[in-house]
Amino acid sequence: MRYTYDDQNIFAKILRGEIPNDTVLETEHSLAFNDIQPQAPLHVLVIPKGPYVCYDHFAQTASDAEIADYTRAIGEVCKLKGVENGGFRMISNAGENGVQEVPHLHVHILGGRPLGRMLEKP
Ligand code: AMP
Repeated sequence: MRYTYDDQNIFAKILRGEIPNDTVLETEHSLAFNDIQPQAPLHVLVIPKGPYVCYDHFAQTASDAEIADYTRAIGEVCKLKGVENGGFRMISNAGENGVQEVPHLHVHILGGRPLGRMLEKP
């Protein structure tokens, strides 16, 4: 596996309780909290508690229990936030091309306004 996890990233610090977060949901293996710079009325980040850099790292190496917990946590956040009213977008940026700023897997759940097209045309 080519990924090396940096435990000094900001989400690792949140998980260790070194900096605060605005928690939406916590489960055995996952944490969901409001994004500090929301880009839509709904902007929640969902992270696994384990040391995974990005989605493919997680999907290839996490345990079945972690994957089930994370998927269910995303579902629960969607339910708590009522995303079926109007829809939403889920994004997980990875690496340089994906313009990932924080190297700990996170899914953005965005909604509450029309979000435009998924990508700008080049
Ligand atoms: P990405 O570009 O996909 O890595 O997104 C990182 C996200 O983390 C951005 O939307 C930031 O606003 C968000 N973020 C950074 N620091 C914090 C923090 N301390 N609490 C909540 N969200 C944060």
